[in-house]
Amino acid sequence: NKRNPHQPEFVQAVQEVAEDIFEFIEDKEQYHEAQILRRIAEPDRVVSFRVCWEDDAGNIRVQRGWRVQNNNAIGPYKGGIRFHPSVTESVLKFLAFEQTFKNALTGLPMGGGKGGSNFNPKGKSVREIMRFCQSFMTELYRHIGADIDVPAGDIGVGGREIGYMFGQYKRITNNFTGVLTGKGLEWGGSLIRTEATGYGAVYFLENMLATRDQDLHGKTAVISGSGNVATHAAEKIVQLGGKVLTLSDSGGFIHDPDGITQEKIDWVKAHKTHRRGRISDYVDEFKGATFHEGKTPWGVKCDVALPCATQNELLGEDARQLVANGCIAVSEGANMPTDLEGVHVFRDAKLLYAPGKASNAGGVAVSGLEMSQNSERRSWKEEELQQMLKDIMAGIHARCEEYGKRDGDYIDYVKGANIAGFKKVADAMLAFGVV
Ligand code: NDP
Repeated sequence: NKRNPHQPEFVQAVQEVAEDIFEFIEDKEQYHEAQILRRIAEPDRVVSFRVCWEDDAGNIRVQRGWRVQNNNAIGPYKGGIRFHPSVTESVLKFLAFEQTFKNALTGLPMGGGKGGSNFNPKGKSVREIMRFCQSFMTELYRHIGADIDVPAGDIGVGGREIGYMFGQYKRITNNFTGVLTGKGLEWGGSLIRTEATGYGAVYFLENMLATRDQDLHGKTAVISGSGNVATHAAEKIVQLGGKVLTLSDSGGFIHDPDGITQEKIDWVKAHKTHRRGRISDYVDEFKGATFHEGKTPWGVKCDVALPCATQNELLGEDARQLVANGCIAVSEGANMPTDLEGVHVFRDAKLLYAPGKASNAGGVAVSGLEMSQNSERRSWKEEELQQMLKDIMAGIHARCEEYGKRDGDYIDYVKGANIAGFKKVADAMLAFGVV
């Protein structure tokens, strides 16, 4: 706290990891001597910059942009860019720290980073968004590169924004390289990148359920969010025979007791992305559903839950409610959606609980595969990528299992993910010397 005043999200993320790491390194002098945990918790650098842009009315607007390069011990910095008014240095430092562990867990050679701006894309015209992205990249370009730091999308940054930023990078540098991921298929993007995070979170859930000889068939699922991750998680649950009961956005959640089918998910996707609509409109479209303004969906009885909206959206009280309602598994699609108290509730109840750094790593994993395809200048087939994603999620599950076993059969995925991610990065850092 003293080292990072006014950075609650960052301190929370480090605290959560430190609890497990301290236990792991207790008898391992090499990590203490080199102060490895401290070094991972201090970003290599934080670049902060001004972003000026002109709105449609001709006003000059000023925003702040950041790129946090946390750690590149095992590969180039890699992590998304977020455009949202809630973005602060603390939020980006927490995300870059988490990303370091997540990327290590995928087994691919990627370091950890994150970036973004407090720019609010809501209500902005397409031209305004384009001008903002161009201005953002006009500064960012000097800090990134295909072998240095490879940003991607995140909240508020989808394929359109990546296009504007990539176009600006190319214009400034005259280089067509894989400097960003999440690109369009015509210009270096990878198949299944859009679906990867949501699908991956469900594959991870399947792996967890299998440890108790169960699968998703006939299970009810509560999902938060209605963006990229939430809608694709919903889609995969439906494909695997489960029933999705809820989706949400920052206005509240919808509950559809008949189940949110593929047709309904397609409507949500189109409504939220193309029409930029609200999830509350769902109830006008589909009878039998109800909208709960300003609420999160965790009180709805379910077998499995997937928080897929944002950080700290599932609190201790919500976690207790899920456990009391008989929920058996939670797979996080978002980053740190469960607060520290909620995490303790799930771990104490020995729920099958996957932290985002393990369960939502499918997105960055396919981004890693996009980098490989760019380096090879070729595109892999959809079936190949689907299989690779499944294998990568199974691999992450196995790594968590290796380090997270406790009390007989119970797997503490938080502990497993923290230790497995830490060990890989820490050993690489040690190989480079103690200072
Ligand atoms: P999107 O922007 O596509 O969707 C975000 C969703 O979360 C929207 O439904 C949004 O509602 C909702 N939301 C945002 N802020 C809040 C809030 N304060 N309270 C309630 N709901 C909120 O983002 P993604 O789906 O891409 O990302 C969701 C989460 O997953 C984030 O934590 C992200 O970091 C994480 N993630 C994403 C990856 C990816 O590949 N996309 C990879 C790994 C992690 P509204 O429309 O009202 O804003």
